[in-house]
Amino acid sequence: MSRKSFICGNWKMNATHLDAIQMVQKLSYRLELSDYERVDVVVAPPFTSLRSVQTVIEADHLAIQLAAQNVHWEDSGAFTGEVAPAMLAKLGVDSVIVGHSERRELFGETDENVNRKVKAVLAAGMTPIMCLGETLNEREAEETESKVAGQLSAGLKGLSPEEAVQVIIAYEPIWAIGTGRTAEPDDAGAVCEFLRRRFGDEFGGSFAEDVRIIYGGSVNPGNIAALMAKTHIDGGLVGGASLDPDTFASIVRYWI
Ligand code: PEP
Repeated sequence: MSRKSFICGNWKMNATHLDAIQMVQKLSYRLELSDYERVDVVVAPPFTSLRSVQTVIEADHLAIQLAAQNVHWEDSGAFTGEVAPAMLAKLGVDSVIVGHSERRELFGETDENVNRKVKAVLAAGMTPIMCLGETLNEREAEETESKVAGQLSAGLKGLSPEEAVQVIIAYEPIWAIGTGRTAEPDDAGAVCEFLRRRFGDEFGGSFAEDVRIIYGGSVNPGNIAALMAKTHIDGGLVGGASLDPDTFASIVRYWI
């Protein structure tokens, strides 16, 4: 099975719902129907903009997919400030970013919580985009593989191969996020290949062939084509460069 490219714009804590409406409309003007056949085009606005963006997508019959940036694993209850999976699913959210390094580093998200969230997102019928990656110190100490292997196996713990293959794995070296410093395509491709092999060790080779592994970390229109040329990189998670619809559209249309 060939793996369809997946490119997601993570807007992080940017854009009001009014900005978000304009951003998704502008993005849609810059894309053609054939682009969506080639790439799953996804935007991840903040919670406050999800409903507005979903309304535009529905009203204008856009093929843009909607992602959330976080979720809680419980169905409901006394969890002030949290959002449940079913709330997102009901809003038409297709996928949810889980375990982003900013959540791990700034908000204490652990591998155990990432695993709970991955399971909860799948149970609600959505696709988890599970982020993992090493720090600069870990890279320099040649600990990249042990770090990402540990995160992969902890995040997917307890899943069947049929469940695990639905997860989008986002390899995001922490030193490349928001720094303008991209991993060399050869290095990023090698880590993604390593992750696919580890996935195969745990879930079987045919599932490893199908699972989508994407790269994130200062992706821009100038480096996306070289990253996408790597066999084991199936797409991108794009932060800063996704905030401008022109720039993000150029990334989505990376072959042009
Ligand atoms: C991200 O937010 O996941 C990310 C990769 O950010 P940036 O593209 O800005 O490095």
